[in-house]
Amino acid sequence: MARTFGIKFICMTLIFVMAMTLVNTYNVNVHAEVSVPRIIKVGLNYGSSAKTAATVTSQRGFYAGTYDDRTFLEEAIIENTTVMVRSTENGIVVQDTDGATLYAEHDGKGVGLRPIYTDYWEEKFTFEGSSYRGSLNLIRDGDAFAAINVVDIDLYLYGVVSREMSDTWPIEALKAQAVCSRNYAAQNIGKHSGYGFDVCANTHCQMYTGMSREAQSIYDAVDSTRGMVMTYNGELCSCYYASSMGSSTEDIKYVWGNELPYLVSVDNSFEDTDNISNGRWSGVLSVQEASTIMRNRGYDVGDVQKIEALEYSPSGRVTKLRVTGNTAIKTLELEECRTVFGSVTKSQMFTVVGDGDAQAQANIFVTDGETLIRRRPTQIEILTDMGRYGLSGDALYTTNGVYQHTYADSQESSAPNTSFTFTGTGWGHGVGMSQYGAKGMAENGYSFIEILTHYFSGAVVDSVY
Ligand SMILES: [Zn+2]
Repeated sequence: MARTFGIKFICMTLIFVMAMTLVNTYNVNVHAEVSVPRIIKVGLNYGSSAKTAATVTSQRGFYAGTYDDRTFLEEAIIENTTVMVRSTENGIVVQDTDGATLYAEHDGKGVGLRPIYTDYWEEKFTFEGSSYRGSLNLIRDGDAFAAINVVDIDLYLYGVVSREMSDTWPIEALKAQAVCSRNYAAQNIGKHSGYGFDVCANTHCQMYTGMSREAQSIYDAVDSTRGMVMTYNGELCSCYYASSMGSSTEDIKYVWGNELPYLVSVDNSFEDTDNISNGRWSGVLSVQEASTIMRNRGYDVGDVQKIEALEYSPSGRVTKLRVTGNTAIKTLELEECRTVFGSVTKSQMFTVVGDGDAQAQANIFVTDGETLIRRRPTQIEILTDMGRYGLSGDALYTTNGVYQHTYADSQESSAPNTSFTFTGTGWGHGVGMSQYGAKGMAENGYSFIEILTHYFSGAVVDSVY
């Protein structure tokens, strides 16, 4: 009797466990559409930087073989710890240091080299003197070969987070960066599929130089957020980030023209803009430099005579920039207001004035209660509950209570410009998370989840693996 009861109890327990497993599976599958690959293919050298020969080392030698997408197919063992890889007429070959062939490409499938390791942590190699985790895949690229690092996505993130933030920054900021970078990687699988990999190792995708800057705090940030991504309505978010953004971040519609509910302008007052690299900046372009830049960009307006910010977003970023030349006029919009003169404009949040531009007749004075300082309208920023507004040449209205006229109406006549001075705030596109803002929030006790949900309005942190 007791025995029967025991079996029944075990059966009921099993049913209960199975039911709970189903419930758990269901809970995890709430965001079933979010799929994050565990292996990423990072292009190290390709196209113009493709190699014809390179040195590869590994502490215990290599397994040699081919890659079927992300899966390594082992064919041979190479005991040499240092090998040369070369591009030859017959394909890519792996040679010892005396030039004897150890493994040769067949059927145009490229060459995979996987370090022999006894511990997962040991799976690393050097390629041309730089250290990487994971494996190396070489595929033909014209007469040369492209080098691809095939690596676990979290090991890749050690390399990315350590390039994006200093390892001395607060751990909660590093964790926020790790989640943003995981989102970027997950969303951009196959971005460079034409070259045979997912993401490149430059700022075009995310900066990655392998193990060069790894540190304990970076490991902690990536490991403690393992599998975590930002989602909105069950879909992966585009977690854009940039170095600094001034008093508020920008709505994506004023930068790239599209709209996303979680990429709107939010307060960024934890960023210590005045005391960080490129938080405040200014730069000068001569008429000749500005004219050449426009011509090279395909916007030949002749000699640039005037550059004017026509419109600003509510957060104070230029959304229309008119460039007047002696043969044509071009009005730049949204992100191009920053990128066209990107050699001096580090963000879209700037004012521009020509050395011959008319000065306002109206005097504007600012005071701290003791001293009175005269300012030009273009040096004034107005703070409101909507954010910080810079003043453009014709954006300031003055009134005597009877009539209203614009700053432009009250200008003195202008002289020909010989140069243009851009003065601005923040470094980068302004959308999503400010990295220095995240640092400031972390220093003030906010968690990485609080940081992320602040910068990505309405999004949530999800665990997907
Ligand atoms: Zn790229």
